[in-house]
Amino acid sequence: MSMIQDNLIAVNFTKVKENILSACKQANRNPEEVTLIAVSKTKPLEMLQEAYKAGARDFGENKVQELLDKIPQLPEDIRWHMIGHLQRNKVKYIVDKVFLIHSVDSLRLAEEISIQALKKNVEVNILIEVNVAREESKFGATTEEAIALVEEIAKLPGIHIKGLMTIAPFVEDSALNREYFQKLKQLSVDISRKNIDNVSMSILSMGMTGDYTVAVEEGATHVRVGTGIFGERNYNI
Ligand SMILES: *Cc1c(COP(=O)(O)O)cnc(C)c1O
Repeated sequence: MSMIQDNLIAVNFTKVKENILSACKQANRNPEEVTLIAVSKTKPLEMLQEAYKAGARDFGENKVQELLDKIPQLPEDIRWHMIGHLQRNKVKYIVDKVFLIHSVDSLRLAEEISIQALKKNVEVNILIEVNVAREESKFGATTEEAIALVEEIAKLPGIHIKGLMTIAPFVEDSALNREYFQKLKQLSVDISRKNIDNVSMSILSMGMTGDYTVAVEEGATHVRVGTGIFGERNYNI
C-alpha cells in the first residue's frame, strides 16, 4: 500500500531537482549553488524518511514543537531549517538544534537568539526575513527597514547573518513573483556592498512549490518546497 506513496515522494523529489537543474541552465548558474529544502511541516515521519532515502538532507519546519518531535527521530546528518515565524519564548528550545533560522524579522527576536546562543555556547546562523511584496498578512521587515535591522543585528554576539529570505505572494502565474525575487536579490547586493562586519549575503532563501524555478533564475540559493515533494497539506488532522 504505502509503496506507491513512498515512490511518489522519491519521484517528486527527483522531479523538483530536475526542474532546479533546468532553471540553473536557463540562467547560466551552477546547480551546486542551489539547495533544495524539503518543507515537511504537518507531514508524518515516514514521509520524511522517504524523502531522506531519495537524497533529501535539508528539511524545513515552521513550528518549534514539531521540530523538537521530529529531530531526535530522524538521522543526525539532516540540516534542519526553521522557516516559520518564531516567538521569542521558544528560541531557547531550538538555537542549538537548527542549522539555519530563516525568519528573523526584528531586533528583539535577534537579541533573544543572541542571549540563548551565548547560554548554550553555540553560534547561530540566521536570515533576515523581508516582506518584499509588502503583504499585510505576512511577517518580515520592509525593504527600507532591512538595512538598519541588519546593521543592528550584526553587532550582537553569537549570531551571524547569512543572507535574506522572502515569502512571495501566492499567485497562479509564478512570473508575477519575478519582480519580488529581483528586489530581494538587489537588496542583498546593496547590503553586501556595505561590507558590514559579521554580515554575509551568501544565502537567498526564496521560491516555493509554485515559483521555485523563477526564484532560481533570479538567484535563489535555497528554495523551500513542500507541496511539490510531499503533496497537499491537511491542516485538520
Ligand atoms: C509552507 C512553507 C513553504 C512551502 O510551501 P509549498 O507551497 O508547499 O512549497 C515554504 N516556505 C515557508 C516559509 C513555508 O511556511
